[in-house]
Amino acid sequence: PGSNAGSGIAGSEALLARASAVIPAGVNSPVRAFRAVGGTPRFMASGQGAWLTDVDGNRYVDLICSWGPMILGHAHPDVLRAVEQTAARGFSFGTPSENEVALAEEIVARIDPVEQVRLVNSGTEATMSAIRLARGYTQRDVIVKFSGCYHGHVDALLASAGSGVATFALPDSAGVPRSSAAETIVLPYNDLAAVEAAFAERGHEIAAVITEAAPGNMGVVPPAPGFTEGLRRITREHGALLISDEVMTGFRCSRSGFYGVEGPYAAGPADLFTFGKVMGGGFPTAAFGGRAEVMALLAPAGPVYQAGTLSGNPVASAAGLATLRGCTADVYARLDSAARAIAGAASDALTTASVPHTIQWAGSMFSIFFREGPVRNYDEAKGQDVDAFRRFFHAMLEQGVHLPPSSFEAWFVSAAHDDDAVAHVVDALPAAARAAAGG
Ligand code: PMP
Repeated sequence: PGSNAGSGIAGSEALLARASAVIPAGVNSPVRAFRAVGGTPRFMASGQGAWLTDVDGNRYVDLICSWGPMILGHAHPDVLRAVEQTAARGFSFGTPSENEVALAEEIVARIDPVEQVRLVNSGTEATMSAIRLARGYTQRDVIVKFSGCYHGHVDALLASAGSGVATFALPDSAGVPRSSAAETIVLPYNDLAAVEAAFAERGHEIAAVITEAAPGNMGVVPPAPGFTEGLRRITREHGALLISDEVMTGFRCSRSGFYGVEGPYAAGPADLFTFGKVMGGGFPTAAFGGRAEVMALLAPAGPVYQAGTLSGNPVASAAGLATLRGCTADVYARLDSAARAIAGAASDALTTASVPHTIQWAGSMFSIFFREGPVRNYDEAKGQDVDAFRRFFHAMLEQGVHLPPSSFEAWFVSAAHDDDAVAHVVDALPAAARAAAGG
């Protein structure tokens, strides 16, 4: 069922041409353009459960899930109802409203160290605001981030490592001021000695360390035992804050996030957390939060300015709330079993085809690196065979399975990935593994 019956992709090609005239490269976010894998991105017409249908009528099991948000599957009836009922009463008021309160309560109830949140519209806004808050709280300017961790397109976080451990970073994008990158230190992930060294040199200037709770943006690279705990200890010793970016992992790796898998550490939880994706259920809403004492610094109560015309939007909040309320223990169990089944079959197929690979996990979130493991940091992630992935990706796509179009991304499943959807993926894997091998 649901096979991709070779309807062609003329519709996607025509839309890409139209799009490219009015939108740079035809896409509103770079990864969608298939630059890493080549070919024509598929323009989707609809999604239902685990499946996407493109404008030419091809069907795909979706392993992107909108990069995380669609944890219950596409067009889940409870979320749809919440959105329809809310939208019928108006879209946005520019005044406070009840749904945003209920969403904030749901988040605070799920993760102990988060006493208060402020809602924003994207993960980028969440990390940008958390950093401003950390700078305001500590009255320091320097931020430490890790190479391969992505926190959105915030100037200070689009930085790459300078020449020495504690050397200020360089812009990682044209248009990022050198002065902005110069307030960031970029260190290798999972390297506590590098963190110790940076703090030994510049600890008095460092406002915060920001880290993905479990990185998913260089592929999945879980923190080594003791790494995050070490960050907590070092930041505390130097009066800096620890920001745990749970935009991808939040409410996915467990009912709270990766926090629920790993923390709290003996040294205590992070000071600030950022969330997005799942908590918006496919709508643009995100959040940052932490201890009330820190959050009290935000305007209008405190001196750290932060605002948003659509922040706490009632329709987005309703979608997020219905999604979080739908994330029951059964949902997490299903995510886990679907992910294990797909990853296990992928590993078997790649092994049979003699394709070097390793699968890494953060809760039920996983990715496949096309190289032997373990992969502990971005340099190691970059050592994979991206051409093998490219062949694998296209063979899967032709068989009706839509993987993330880059080997540096997590594969996302939803609770709607039932036995039928999983079987469709499993059936496609052997031919894709042979394609990967057949360079
Ligand atoms: N932080 C992390 C960990 C993310 O994965 C992302 C998005 N992939 C972001 C921040 C930025 O979120 P957004 O794309 O909503 O701005």
